Amino acid sequence: MRFKAVEEQFRRSAVLVEGASVKISEYYGINVFDMERMQRYLSKEAYKSVVFAVETGNRIDRKVADQVAAGMKDWAVSRGATHYTHWFHPLTGGTAEKHDAFIDLDNNGKAFESFSGNLLSQQEPDASSFPHGGLRNTFEARGYTAWDPSSPAFILDKTLCIPTIFISYTGEALDYKTPLLKSIQALDKAAVDVCQYFDKEVKKVVANLGWEQEYFLVDDALYQARPDLVLTNRTLMGHSSAKDQQLEDHYFGSIPERVSAFMRDFEIESYKLGIPIKTRHNEVAPNQFECAPIFEEVNLANDHNQLMMEVMRRTARRHHFRVLFHEKPFAGVNGSGKHNNWSMGTDTGVNLLQPGKTPKKNLQFLTFLVNTIKAVHEHGDLLRAGIVSAGNTHRLGANEAPPSIMSVFLGTQLSKTLDDFEKRVSDEKMTPDEKTALKLDIGKIPKILLDNTDRNRTSPFAFTGNRFEFRAVGSSQNCASPMLILNTAVADRLRIFKTEVDALIEKNIKKDEAIFQILRKYISESKNVRFEGNGYSEDWPKEAAKKGLSNINSVPEALSILTTDATIDFFERNKVLNRRELESRFEVGIEEFTKKIQIESRVLGDLAVNHIVPTVIKYQNTLIESARGLKEIYGEKEFKTVAGRRLETISTISKHITEILDKTDEMIEARRKANRLDCHKKVYEYDQKVRPFLEKIREHIDDLELIVDDEMWPLPKYRELLFSR
Ligand code: ADP
Ligand code: MG
Repeated sequence: MRFKAVEEQFRRSAVLVEGASVKISEYYGINVFDMERMQRYLSKEAYKSVVFAVETGNRIDRKVADQVAAGMKDWAVSRGATHYTHWFHPLTGGTAEKHDAFIDLDNNGKAFESFSGNLLSQQEPDASSFPHGGLRNTFEARGYTAWDPSSPAFILDKTLCIPTIFISYTGEALDYKTPLLKSIQALDKAAVDVCQYFDKEVKKVVANLGWEQEYFLVDDALYQARPDLVLTNRTLMGHSSAKDQQLEDHYFGSIPERVSAFMRDFEIESYKLGIPIKTRHNEVAPNQFECAPIFEEVNLANDHNQLMMEVMRRTARRHHFRVLFHEKPFAGVNGSGKHNNWSMGTDTGVNLLQPGKTPKKNLQFLTFLVNTIKAVHEHGDLLRAGIVSAGNTHRLGANEAPPSIMSVFLGTQLSKTLDDFEKRVSDEKMTPDEKTALKLDIGKIPKILLDNTDRNRTSPFAFTGNRFEFRAVGSSQNCASPMLILNTAVADRLRIFKTEVDALIEKNIKKDEAIFQILRKYISESKNVRFEGNGYSEDWPKEAAKKGLSNINSVPEALSILTTDATIDFFERNKVLNRRELESRFEVGIEEFTKKIQIESRVLGDLAVNHIVPTVIKYQNTLIESARGLKEIYGEKEFKTVAGRRLETISTISKHITEILDKTDEMIEARRKANRLDCHKKVYEYDQKVRPFLEKIREHIDDLELIVDDEMWPLPKYRELLFSR
């Protein structure tokens, strides 16, 4: 009853009244058509079919879909919703929606609320403008969106949003969700099969994701005065502030009041949407913050991440902030990432990346741990391709984020255990008692790691006691991109592992011993991917090269991994993505990168020529005027001494102006040349010939910023952008 009363309270006012003593648990998920509400609004039959569809991944029967749609509509209308939309993750990043009203007319022209099973299950948005990389010609512009019952519908802004997949007319994935769901299935199957060695009760394994989202906040008025932020989401110029993050005082500082008001507000909205936000804190750079939820099943967690980013954007506007998800909005201070904490859990309540108290549990843990390490070793390049973006290149390998080299950190003790395991395990050397002792030892390690606050922050892929933390993911990215690769890589590995163990068992080797032997082989084979040292150090890339680990910094090069024969074979044998889908993802990736560099280059050229140079000339003219005055007062001879510095500045300014104008011309010429090429060559040309100008031109502008009269400077400076809050 209390629940109903709170629901009623929210119906009347969407916003929590400050100071009202409502517990989070009382309004949590109030805007979600979750299992509890389904039970209330659906017939028993309809409810059961939804549960069945969620558990098995099967489709829902059309007749039942009508009932579900009717229940969903009743609930949504009772919560004040007037429209509905299919909500999906196109390859643009972000999410897409097209709203339709529930309204329909009867034969007499009288309006009524309507929503059918057809509209719930499937739609055909005219989606010709979504990126598809050649998968869909515009004349067959239709893509289908189809309901994903494993992620519940929710209400955002009076619109019922139905999470859906987005596929082409011919069935190819045009989104992130479709392959993510397939990778989840592949992992489930492979992991359950391996779990059977240890526990026959396991029927389902899910991948879990707990993301940590970093972001910047900028005052809205200042944001509006920076065309580069508005158009490219990052600053293309700006001298570093005299003080930024060097005192390391922001990270531990208290959250500014205006910021915490914003956080409270978006958290409330998130709770209503069933997003379990748990942590909030300042980050390293000024005006940089982070939030993280309690981990959830990866598909749901990813929907929640995308949804929360949208809620944050909206809420920020209300607080006269802009939230920046770009990986590197400001040069010289830390960029933003999205750590993806990943683990596997069984339907018997076991975290497969957490050792237990029994030797059997620990061998199971070791099996999943070692197979994951091996998967990262084998598919490091692909994981790299999964986190590639124009924004993320500014972070990776830039001494503030893990490098582009995919390595795994385990912590000293666990690493030593694996080394010992490799040395000691062989048929004759170990007695069963010794094996048991070894397994028990393994159990103690991660506990040490969990309690250990001094974890390695420089590793892109770190084991943190009961999960792996993939830290190289960019803050604006869709988690599905790296997660579907990781799920598939581990699924593939586990399947091969099972084949190899079974082959030994066939040869009458005992199961335990067979597992020991194969694990030992894997530990030895994947040793080179393990790295315990400082990932930011200068020596690491050299050492990594010797170990055969690649270090791909170029975006087009990283993307090209998506279409190698090995990648295509890997995704096809796991039934996650096929050749055409991979080729289209590659096309979308290079097109997006090319366009982003093109836009940045245009914006910079425009700002340089139309904002900076005219201002600088004005300032230079005041200096010229002043020098002329001095000459009048002092006469030719003395004037040189008195006005010396002024004259120097006048000529320094001239040099910078010439450089800016010349380089801008060269950049435009480089663009022209690139634009004549086909897209596969164009992307390299933009990367290698156009992109470097962004830095070269900026240097001169940033120098001028320190020379020119502060009052005249046409753009808000870093100290304002980073410190006003
Ligand atoms: P830290 O700052 O130490 O990395 P946080 O508490 O900020 O840790 O966040 C870690 C994230 O990892 C949270 O989203 C949390 O829910 C998630 N997490 C914890 N345990 C697991 C697990 N077993 N599997 C996946 N994610 C997990
Ligand atoms: Mg973390």
